Amino acid sequence: MVIGNGDAAVEEALYLTGFAAEVTLLVVHDEGILDATRVIQERAFANPKLKFKWNAVLAEIKGKEAVEAVVVRDIKTGALQEIPTDGVFFFVGTVPNTAFLQGKVELDEHGYIVADEMMATSADGVFAAGDCRQKFLRQVITAAADGAIAAVMAEKYISEENLFRQDILQAEKPVLLVFWSPVVEASLPVVAEAEKAQQRFGGQIKFVKIDTYRNRRISKRYGISQVPAVIILQQGEIISRLEDFSAEAISQAVAAVLA
Ligand SMILES: Cc1cc2nc3c(=O)[nH]c(=O)nc-3n(C[C@H](O)[C@H](O)[C@H](O)COP(=O)(O)OP(=O)(O)OC[C@H]3O[C@@H](n4cnc5c(N)ncnc54)[C@H](O)[C@@H]3O)c2cc1C
Repeated sequence: MVIGNGDAAVEEALYLTGFAAEVTLLVVHDEGILDATRVIQERAFANPKLKFKWNAVLAEIKGKEAVEAVVVRDIKTGALQEIPTDGVFFFVGTVPNTAFLQGKVELDEHGYIVADEMMATSADGVFAAGDCRQKFLRQVITAAADGAIAAVMAEKYISEENLFRQDILQAEKPVLLVFWSPVVEASLPVVAEAEKAQQRFGGQIKFVKIDTYRNRRISKRYGISQVPAVIILQQGEIISRLEDFSAEAISQAVAAVLA
């Protein structure tokens, strides 16, 4: 017995005909009406093992150790009928258990969590995985894939936050922050130039280099969309944004900040 008549229910019923002697689809609509798409309906009506119970809803499942029968109610007459069966499969939709996230994380109109391909939700540091997420295919393999991505992203989030707090926000000295990327060749010399500049000032300024390929959040935080980029910060606030990335220009900017 399969409860439901949408695509998932009819597909499941057809699949079960490969194993069961007979499968009955319990349909709430009048005879001949299914919610499934036409192609799936045609396959269903052509399958001799698939039977239909029209205008019916499930009233009860009976059985001691396992399912033995179902009681179905005719929605027009109210009459109850007991039908022996070995199994019941529900395909009448799902409701995600996400009410506790209302107002905290963006949900779609059906209550599913909206997350991007990195599993990031609308709330900073909150990642979603699995069936509770707005997605096309809800299966074990997609849930596991979501879980792997969400776990990696959550770990990355924590390490980026730690780097940001310890090396940038809590730094007592001004911070010379250099953005570079191993995949942008033109950004590679800036690291050496900034190191040269920093050496001229001994320990008066802290030098932090950010690989934007790995640490996208810090780049985003400071509005860095291309590399190389160099900024000088004091307690996390930008006090100088450089246009020239030579050691000389960086030294001059650092000197101006320390003056
Ligand atoms: C009848 C049926 C048949 C299916 N057949 C297949 C199949 O053949 N192949 C396939 O790949 N997929 C199948 N699926 C889909 C598959 O089961 C899901 O896609 C998969 O289990 C999703 O994994 P999940 O971890 O996201 O969610 P779930 O497996 O649903 O796990 C969510 C967990 O979170 C718990 N939970 C809920 N709310 C809270 C809360 N507030 N606090 C703490 N815990 C909470 C729940 O108790 C549950 O343990 C089937 C699903 C159904 C219903």
